[in-house]
Amino acid sequence: MTETPHHPPITLSPIGVIASDYPDKFGIPRQPGLAPAARASLILVPPFDDPLAVRGLEDFSHLWLTFLFHLSPEQVGAKDWTPLVRPPRLGGNAKVGVFASRSTHRPNRLGLSLVELVEIDTRRGVRLMLGGADLVSGTPVIDIKPYLPWAEARPDARAGFAPEAPLKLPVAFSDAAMTALAKRPDGDSLHELIQQVLAQDPRPAYRQGAEARLYGVRLRDVDVRFQVVAADAVARIEVVEIVAA
Ligand code: SAM
Repeated sequence: MTETPHHPPITLSPIGVIASDYPDKFGIPRQPGLAPAARASLILVPPFDDPLAVRGLEDFSHLWLTFLFHLSPEQVGAKDWTPLVRPPRLGGNAKVGVFASRSTHRPNRLGLSLVELVEIDTRRGVRLMLGGADLVSGTPVIDIKPYLPWAEARPDARAGFAPEAPLKLPVAFSDAAMTALAKRPDGDSLHELIQQVLAQDPRPAYRQGAEARLYGVRLRDVDVRFQVVAADAVARIEVVEIVAA
């Protein structure tokens, strides 16, 4: 019998780094596109910051990014390997194989996100302006590829335990939160971002329904404090206050 070839470890060099509206992991939607108002820049680093390397990319509306889940624990060798994970989508109880999931806790810690390409700035190095990314600021990016809808869009595909987009909760803003937004030049876009992020109910999967507890999500340079309240037996998010982070 022939032996399966075993490749030695591979070293990858990040081509760039993300600066995004998300300073922390907590609150980031669990897939790209769920908060289209989220803005991010991908700043290419030398020697990959050559404008020639992105020539023609401006004609594509969407990109695949391969990146490193740099804030997830590193899995070194077989002993840290966990074949089963608990997806939040299943309430954090049921387990599935790591390769049947989009978990951040995976061998090699590689992530894959489809993002909107808004603009390319090549005035100093290369900066790609992106929409809808699900990436924390500081994420190292390994590769960029243009998205080909004719080959890659499969609306009829089966999607296992996550067949539909997650349900959204209604989001209401207190007077204090609205006043804080009104004072900012980016008030409208921040309002939209907060609305889209909180509609995803960022609480841990096992938390459901209303609770008295106050949560905080960091977006841009603010801390958004919110509560989940019950209105006519339906859970609703209420933004209590928006304060400097
Ligand atoms: N779309 C990607 C994928 O499928 O590979 C990411 C999916 S993963 C479930 C999305 C979550 O990753 C976000 O909610 C955020 O909390 C987390 N995340 C984003 N950037 C990260 C990073 N650099 N390191 C670790 N976790 C990160």
